[in-house]
Amino acid sequence: MKLVTSLGAGAAFWLSSALTGATAQDLNVLCGVDKDWCLTMEAAFEQTTGLDVAMARRSTGEILEQIRDEKDDPQVDVWWGGTGDTHLQAAAEGLLEPYRPAHTGDALPWAQNFYQLSGGTASGVYAGALGFAYNSSVLTGNGLKAPSCWKDLTDPRYLGLVQLANPNSSGTAYTFLATLVQLLGEDEAIRYLAALAHNISHFTTSGAAPVKAAARGETGIGISFIHDAVTQQQAGAPLVIVAPCEGTGYEIGAVSIVKGAKHLQAARRFVNYSMSPEGQATGAASGQNQIPSNARAALPPAAPDISLIRMVDYDFATFGSPEQRRRLLDRFDKEVLGNSSPVVTQ
Ligand code: PLP
Repeated sequence: MKLVTSLGAGAAFWLSSALTGATAQDLNVLCGVDKDWCLTMEAAFEQTTGLDVAMARRSTGEILEQIRDEKDDPQVDVWWGGTGDTHLQAAAEGLLEPYRPAHTGDALPWAQNFYQLSGGTASGVYAGALGFAYNSSVLTGNGLKAPSCWKDLTDPRYLGLVQLANPNSSGTAYTFLATLVQLLGEDEAIRYLAALAHNISHFTTSGAAPVKAAARGETGIGISFIHDAVTQQQAGAPLVIVAPCEGTGYEIGAVSIVKGAKHLQAARRFVNYSMSPEGQATGAASGQNQIPSNARAALPPAAPDISLIRMVDYDFATFGSPEQRRRLLDRFDKEVLGNSSPVVTQ
């Protein structure tokens, strides 16, 4: 498949539910996008429907683990956001409830394909390309030249100046791993990652953390989705965004209903809203820059034009399969993390 708020009281509640695991009477949602978008979406859906939602932000791999662990007594109704290949894995494991949302007919072709691939259990909400961004002040301050390719990032001169998330928790980092396998072949990709690990200061839990750290000048280079880097750039960070010369991969961020969801009707309403132009507009309203899947939704003005980026023909079926994911993560743990000693943080 080819592709070619304000926070206030709502935030306080959201944080408390996230920390205590509290559940709402009407609907429980795990949110895989940036927490600003989670909060905006929660408030907009509550205002539209009058329903009481408990929403917590987690990284994509963490959501998959939680849904798997709660299989016999699901506590989550909807999984909204996060990289689609992880939703596909949940679909393959029988963890999702089939549903054809309203607005599916307005979905762009890549989202239609994704829906078919999931067996009618997960819908594409947005898309975005992977890349990296560097902090020009940090690199200049260290007398370093700018990288433009993935291969540049293994240069020993960037020792300790690169951040990447851990693909076990992060859908962003899993997309990176899968992208490298598709660009270089599996063995070469693992060798590349082992070399890159020497330069990595932190394997973070969340996929957007590296580019946020680069924005703050805490690291030189963050590997993340390009739309996350755009959001940091818009906030004034001295980031330069790179679409790597070798080409790159992309994500289709998805929404799905958990099998056995206790609030099925409310879950369907949430999924419908997330696929509507109004629901998708909550992304731009919270400063996000993904490409919406609904052809009638407005494109955020600063959304990267992915047709200009050299892209792999990302194989969602293969890299969304449980066997492939488990095998690649095992190799990452043994051959990349096992041979490096970075500090693991949030
Ligand atoms: N934040 C944004 C803006 C994203 O687009 C995505 C991917 O869907 C994520 C977060 C995923 O987060 P993580 O890599 O922590 O799973």
